[in-house]
Amino acid sequence: MPGSIKRFSPEECAELGSHSFADCAAVLARQFVDGQFTDEDLQRICRDAYDFPVPLKTLDGYEVDPAVPELAGNEFLLELFHGPTLAFKDFAARFMGRAASHIMSKKDQTRTILVATSGDTGGAIGDAFLYQNGIRVFILFPKNGVSKVQEQQLTTMGGGDANVHAIAVDGTFDDCQQMVKNAFADNQLTRKYNLMSANSINVGRVIPQSFYYFWTSLQLKAAYGDLPIVYSIPSGNLGNLTGGLIAREMGAPIDRFVVGNNVNDPFVDYLETGEYTPRPSQPTLSNAMDIGRPNNFPRISKLFKNNYDDILKVCWGASFSDTDTERHMRRVFAETNYIMCPHTAVGHMAMNAFADDIDIEFLKVTVATAHPAKFADSVERILRTEISMPEPLAKAMTREKVFVETKPNLDALVEILETEMS
Ligand SMILES: *Cc1c(COP(=O)(O)O)cnc(C)c1O
Repeated sequence: MPGSIKRFSPEECAELGSHSFADCAAVLARQFVDGQFTDEDLQRICRDAYDFPVPLKTLDGYEVDPAVPELAGNEFLLELFHGPTLAFKDFAARFMGRAASHIMSKKDQTRTILVATSGDTGGAIGDAFLYQNGIRVFILFPKNGVSKVQEQQLTTMGGGDANVHAIAVDGTFDDCQQMVKNAFADNQLTRKYNLMSANSINVGRVIPQSFYYFWTSLQLKAAYGDLPIVYSIPSGNLGNLTGGLIAREMGAPIDRFVVGNNVNDPFVDYLETGEYTPRPSQPTLSNAMDIGRPNNFPRISKLFKNNYDDILKVCWGASFSDTDTERHMRRVFAETNYIMCPHTAVGHMAMNAFADDIDIEFLKVTVATAHPAKFADSVERILRTEISMPEPLAKAMTREKVFVETKPNLDALVEILETEMS
């Protein structure tokens, strides 16, 4: 965790909210990096990384604009899927890729990134680091645990002389994550390959996820004044939630966070009982949230100084089965024509459950974490409709897959590293 988190005054926040998203992000990033970056470096990195929109929309497509503060209902979707790999992971991956390459270019070093993915992280990291000098990337994914489109994205970046390699692990996401953790626990291996993590174990993956909570909550406040603001986040490893909590620490006007889990719900369970019990993960429709031992739980505890009652003042949670998710996706589509990915649907159901539970007026923001086309195989089956592929996906679908398969243990991983790097 950062040693300290700067709190901006309400006046400073309002001023930051009037910047573009990228320029606001650069000011926030300043608080977490050292003299290796000038303010201009950060602005250049953020403008280059965030060259896509960050829209707050209503279910019927109206987009929030503080210049036109006409209250369009009180329910919004924060669409975080307009980056190149169509999921929110692009926000952190693109910042981190550019920041790491900025440092590497000064030091003339090579680093090896190991990243475990339940589907979306690997694509975002691979895309963000592809052909960046001084960096090699190994992506570990569960062989039968990612969607068709995700697998296509993960395995078509490499090949030839590319610096990105995909590894299909004969196991679950938790196995992949454990292999990566075991590799880092091995000092000799870490030194030999100059290993670096790109999972949310790395705080560099979490901090940039605070930027959009900070900026969008200020857009809402500028447009609609002082109604309480609540975000609902479909969660797995809890990195996105941790980003939100950091934004709130920095002064973002956010009242509460609602957490949606699928049946892999150790965090929601913790909120309900006070007991934290990690467990093996089970496969679900919202596969990017199939996590039984969330990496960021310790960070959240630390932010609240291990005070359970304080966590409950800010976080509320609910979990849902795949049957609930399918039914909800169909209902939303029938009522509004909006197509939610299965993860977003879990977050939206959690928001509705929270709204039923309390009796105040507030602005509801459900975080839409991925574009539904990333999960075309299940979304098309559930909604019985065809969804069109956005261009970057359509391109990936035509490329040839290149990957190696391996057993779920560290020795097998080391063998691959030896072969690929010799
Ligand atoms: C990664 C991911 C999540 C879960 O986010 P965490 O930070 O791991 O809690 C949810 N939805 C989608 C689409 C994702 O890719």
